[in-house]
Amino acid sequence: MSCTADTHEGGCFCGAVRYRVQGPIALVTHCHCNSCRRSAGAAFVTWLTVERERASWIAGTPKRYASSPGVTREFCGDCGTELAFTNEKAPRTVDLTVASLDCAAGHPADKHIWTANKLPWLRIDDHLPTWPEWSKPA
Ligand SMILES: [Zn+2]
Ligand SMILES: [Zn+2]
Repeated sequence: MSCTADTHEGGCFCGAVRYRVQGPIALVTHCHCNSCRRSAGAAFVTWLTVERERASWIAGTPKRYASSPGVTREFCGDCGTELAFTNEKAPRTVDLTVASLDCAAGHPADKHIWTANKLPWLRIDDHLPTWPEWSKPA
């Protein structure tokens, strides 16, 4: 279990499924969309986005399902932790859940997306940019 400036690792709660990201993490997003909320059972989900060739599974094999057309979510089949998100509309990148990183504390989000779907009792007061729907990675 470790992160360095150039290698980040994470995994599910039970430890059966682990992943590694090579290189820096520069893009971190809070997503308030209905699919993230329902699939994680959480008010919102925080994702990091990296090029697919920089991410790999290093232990176990996640289960996957299509949460909407063209969208695949991957999670531990034993403990249920949501780990990865891919979208055919963004074929070069994969999103991984920041909360599953070993070094999650070091990777704060830089924006909120899909705030049109945000739970009304959740108040955003961190002064980060907000997007009502999806925003393309900068
Ligand atoms: Zn697990
Ligand atoms: Zn989402």
